Amino acid sequence: MTADGVPGEMRSAAMTLLATLDDRQRSLAARPFTDDAARRWLEYRPAQRPGACIAEMSGAARKAAHRLLATGLSDHAYAQAMAAIALEEVLDRRERWLWGRHSGDYWVSVFGDPVGGDPWSWRFEGHHLSVTMTLAGGEISPAPVFLGANPACVSHAGRPVSRPLAPEEDLARALIDALGPAGRDLAVVAGQAPGDIRSQQLGRLHLCAADDCTNVHIDLSKNRSRRFCSTSCANRTNVAAYRTRRATRPTPS
Ligand SMILES: [Zn+2]
Repeated sequence: MTADGVPGEMRSAAMTLLATLDDRQRSLAARPFTDDAARRWLEYRPAQRPGACIAEMSGAARKAAHRLLATGLSDHAYAQAMAAIALEEVLDRRERWLWGRHSGDYWVSVFGDPVGGDPWSWRFEGHHLSVTMTLAGGEISPAPVFLGANPACVSHAGRPVSRPLAPEEDLARALIDALGPAGRDLAVVAGQAPGDIRSQQLGRLHLCAADDCTNVHIDLSKNRSRRFCSTSCANRTNVAAYRTRRATRPTPS
């Protein structure tokens, strides 16, 4: 551990990561702290998101990203997180490789400058894993950590081979059992779990459609048709498309 404890570990791990990424990935990973839309993007579903993608990183950069993740998690939670990532490959097989799920489809972002004294934060996120830590004035504020496991259990001959979230699941079931029938009637509010997503707001967060832009925007348009973060990105893309069309138009003879 460094002299200033976990905040120092996070700072040095984030600096190592940014130094190890190539220029393109660094431009995707390093974002201003004021980029609220990207910074508040908390999502555990499998989709592209702001940041540098693990799949596109060198071995050294991938290691640096994993070390940054480890600064925010205990030994056992880090094991659960890495198991959740590995399960992407198992799930893909179970789904007959239909979706091309990939254990490299995880994204890392660093918001603000880890070096100065201003607030900064980092996030490691992808399917079934969301870890965000914000640092300000020597304090660390974690956003709620999301961990999921799918398949929750892989077994063979009646014995579990992989069951990363067993402690949480078993404790929850033990709690329900301990309540007794009367307590259980009060505690269980529905026979079926509700759907995963209760808020539609996250579905409105999009990456800008401009090729050279990595901004995130919230689409509040009625027909959900907003593609660009700004009119300048829209104009730049439309002008480029117009020039391409004109250049490829057959010359009149
Ligand atoms: Zn843009």
